[in-house]
Amino acid sequence: MIRTFVGLGSNLGDREAQIRRAVDELAKLPRTTMAHVSSLYDTDPVGDIEQPPFLNAVAWLETQLTPRELLWNLLLIEQRLGRVRAQKWGPRTIDLDILFYGVSIVEEADLVVPHPEAHQRAFVLAPLAELDPDFVHPVTKLSIGKMLRRLKTDRAVRKGGRIWT
Ligand code: ADP
Ligand code: MG
Repeated sequence: MIRTFVGLGSNLGDREAQIRRAVDELAKLPRTTMAHVSSLYDTDPVGDIEQPPFLNAVAWLETQLTPRELLWNLLLIEQRLGRVRAQKWGPRTIDLDILFYGVSIVEEADLVVPHPEAHQRAFVLAPLAELDPDFVHPVTKLSIGKMLRRLKTDRAVRKGGRIWT
């Protein structure tokens, strides 16, 4: 089994319901078990597009799926939850990203792991730090906790309720 972290985000419609549905779908993936899910985080959007705040969380999965099989499954879940790809970086009902896949480094046209922005986004690092602060980023070689402390961010990341016990 490989430890993998999946980032969840939503900023359109009933954000919490969509995160919950995505968590339920992740828990049902073949050859995969759900270890933990972080609390929900209410976060200001990053980037130049004017859009509503996000709800974010991170799921810790143990899987025998390959990174590519996992990606296909995430894209299928996004489709099932009704995601429409309109605007790059724009608002979305659900976004599922592979943040880390063990210590593997994947650099392909349609799949980059670790997620290239993971180490500089508070809405990724804060929920990750809740799950596994000592996990070491295979590229930066820094722990999640250390990267979070180093982060200079003016983006509000507010911790909210739990969706997993
Ligand atoms: P973003 O998450 O960057 O806002 P999208 O969710 O629209 O963008 O994803 C577009 C594409 O990003 C996916 O179809 C997928 O092929 C690609 N991609 C590359 N690396 C990853 C990753 N680590 N996790 C998820 N998708 C990825
Ligand atoms: Mg995505």
